[in-house]
Amino acid sequence: MDYYSDHIKTLIDELGRLPGVGYKSASRLAFHIVNMPQEGVDRLVDSIRNAKANVRYCKKCCTLTDDEYCPICKSPGRDASTVMVVENSRDLAAYEKTGEYHGLYHVLHGAISPALGIGPADIRLKELMQRLETEQISEVIIATNSSLEGETTAMYISKLIKPAGIKVSRIASGVPVGGDLEYIDEITLLRALEGRVEL
Ligand code: ZN
Repeated sequence: MDYYSDHIKTLIDELGRLPGVGYKSASRLAFHIVNMPQEGVDRLVDSIRNAKANVRYCKKCCTLTDDEYCPICKSPGRDASTVMVVENSRDLAAYEKTGEYHGLYHVLHGAISPALGIGPADIRLKELMQRLETEQISEVIIATNSSLEGETTAMYISKLIKPAGIKVSRIASGVPVGGDLEYIDEITLLRALEGRVEL
């Protein structure tokens, strides 16, 4: 039995595909959107379209940005000899919010997960290795999540980099196991960074 119009049903289906949005939330959002003033809907649609069309990967650190290089890579005040490897741009933002990290980043856009069929070639690892060859980097801080995938990725990267004679460290386990960096408070993040151990 179909209670809704086909258009609403399609909208609910599409919203429901977004991460973290279940059927209930999707239908609440769909009805909210249908009842919004036209200008509001236009703004929402435009913002989605513009983000999709204009956001790209920083040529250096691979984070999402509007320009060729992101503001962090462009900043002359950053310590270019230290690179923190994170899983995604949200983790980068979490560390930036602490205001205490002054090095550069490298965003992998994922983590190695044999269970999900995600291998080293599926994340931005090649780009990291290229940077290590061309930039003067003396320390790589691995700040992937402390999930199984994050740990697997950290191990893999450290094995890959160590032969090059570059210092590799891993943020301390102040970050709870399985915890997503973006949900962890700034003090915990700072402690994890300060207590990092060399691999
Ligand atoms: Zn960048």
